[in-house]
Amino acid sequence: MQKYKVGVVGATGMVGQQYVHLIDRHPWFDLTVVAASPRSAGKSYGEAVEGRWRHDYPVPEAAKEMTVLDAAADMERIVASVDFIFCAVDMPKDKTRALEDAYAKLECPVISNNSAHRMTPDVPMVIPEINGDHIAVIEAQRARLGSKRGFVAAKSNCSIQSYVPALHPLRDYGIKSILACTYQAISGAGKTFDTFPDIVDNCIPYIAGEEEKSEREPLKIWGTVQNGEIVMALSPAITTQCMRVACSDGHMAAVFVSFDKKPTIEEILSRWQSFSSRAQELALPSAPKQFLHYFTDPYRPQTRLDRELEGGMAISIGRLREDSQYDYKFVCLSHNTLRGAAGGAVELAELLCAEGYI
Ligand code: NAP
Repeated sequence: MQKYKVGVVGATGMVGQQYVHLIDRHPWFDLTVVAASPRSAGKSYGEAVEGRWRHDYPVPEAAKEMTVLDAAADMERIVASVDFIFCAVDMPKDKTRALEDAYAKLECPVISNNSAHRMTPDVPMVIPEINGDHIAVIEAQRARLGSKRGFVAAKSNCSIQSYVPALHPLRDYGIKSILACTYQAISGAGKTFDTFPDIVDNCIPYIAGEEEKSEREPLKIWGTVQNGEIVMALSPAITTQCMRVACSDGHMAAVFVSFDKKPTIEEILSRWQSFSSRAQELALPSAPKQFLHYFTDPYRPQTRLDRELEGGMAISIGRLREDSQYDYKFVCLSHNTLRGAAGGAVELAELLCAEGYI
């Protein structure tokens, strides 16, 4: 099989480094371009990440000697060398939007990790196992951009990827209200324990912008494609509290939920056990075989023990029980930089390739 040529824009950052690692081992994708800001441009990738490589695994040999390009100034050269790009940049939202649109208009598909375009009505924001069908909106987006190949597709915020997957198979019981408290790892802030000493032995009760995203984004994920736009779902009512906790990777959520038609515990467990999607049907290389895993041991899931389940792409659930104020409560866990960031975006790119959009 001929591999797709792939660029990573923001390749020197926390998420970008993970893309470089995942693409290095990928059966369909070949890394042909690394790009970042003018601060890194012109250096070899090895030099650019020296002293700031934030993962346990080493810098891939194939990437080390590649010259880092300037994401904006070298755009035409980048577009000529790739079939699509992953984009994970730390820039103001308006500048990120402009950068992603410029790539799309130059006929380069953009798989985005950034929040800038998540709420744009004709940009699909996709968790492949849940709303893969939203990619149909790309045709309308291409018409708006005046492109034939180019488009932007986004993945959702990492915080919602622990609890939305667990609730999704229960939607036809009529989910009325959700309360979710998230306990989020420091890598979600682009940090390690070395660069974030304040978090050691600590819990910080505020993550700027996170609760708004956690309450709004599920409604787009559960929206429907109508007349070239994603129309947001009007329910359920969602309220969240998001905390930063002293974990390196892995976002845990404590979830409370009420239904119009309350299912039994056995029905919920059966829905989780049997859940499968188009991503599994297509056997996408990054899709977990079993998306939702339920643990009967009340001490699981645990962040350190369970975040890597199925390559960090599965969701772990535990402690399902009745609640005195909501119908049920449970906990769930997802790996924030794998399922919640680079891994989720790689799986989205696989879906777009398999469905003929790239
Ligand atoms: P990061 O570690 O701070 O890396 C930022 C990257 O953006 C670097 O490669 C940087 O290049 C590049 N950059 C900054 N200014 C630029 C410019 N003007 N032009 C081109 N490139 C520029 O950030 P991160 O944690 O990887 O996050 C990247 C994006 O992913 C953000 O939008 C973030 O919200 C999102 N995200 C992160 C996570 C997570 O778990 N960390 C999860 C979900 C979403 P230089 O090295 O050259 O400065």
